[in-house]
Amino acid sequence: MKYYILFGPPGAGKGTQAKALAEKYKLKHLSTGDLLRKEIAAGTQLGLKAKELIEKGCLVPDEVVEGMIESAFKTVKDVDGFLLDGFPRTIAQAEALDAILERSGETVTSVLSIMIPDEMVISRISGRAAVEGRADDANIETIKNRIATYHKQTEPEIAYYRSAGKYNEVDGVGSIEEVRDRLFAVVDAL
Ligand code: ADP
Repeated sequence: MKYYILFGPPGAGKGTQAKALAEKYKLKHLSTGDLLRKEIAAGTQLGLKAKELIEKGCLVPDEVVEGMIESAFKTVKDVDGFLLDGFPRTIAQAEALDAILERSGETVTSVLSIMIPDEMVISRISGRAAVEGRADDANIETIKNRIATYHKQTEPEIAYYRSAGKYNEVDGVGSIEEVRDRLFAVVDAL
């Protein structure tokens, strides 16, 4: 099994590119953001807690997302691998992922990182708010906090995966097709 991590700041285009990558390489796209939004829509206990944190631009607890990912690994069949989008988002989650995979003799295949500058994060997310109707996209303070959370808690993963020789970065500025082709080129060269 392949285990790809799609990495990048909020608004980098991970969800959009994930669809193309999943289709081309027969991967199951697992977005922790989407899974959490499903819990919120279903009105579960977990969803209620997550909603509060998400709308502040904070992360939900590591154990919550780790549990969701581990159970998805167990239930999804008939794919060549997984494409993780929005997970891991902290060093603790990265270590937990390594431990989960190690238990079944697997390992992270590669990290595919889409990089855009902070100013673009704000303009893209504000634009998306009108289209997708996400509460965490509509508020400028929430967006700023998500950027701060990204720099503080998620960005340190770059060094983590770089030292493991698994970090690959593409420029996320350009058309959807241009960025997609950069990602395809990275995967094809692996
Ligand atoms: P974006 O990439 O635009 O920030 P996501 O859909 O990936 O959007 O995530 C939305 C929100 O869900 C995050 O801001 C965070 O609150 C929560 N979330 C998603 N994935 C994780 C994770 N791995 N750990 C903790 N919180 C998460």
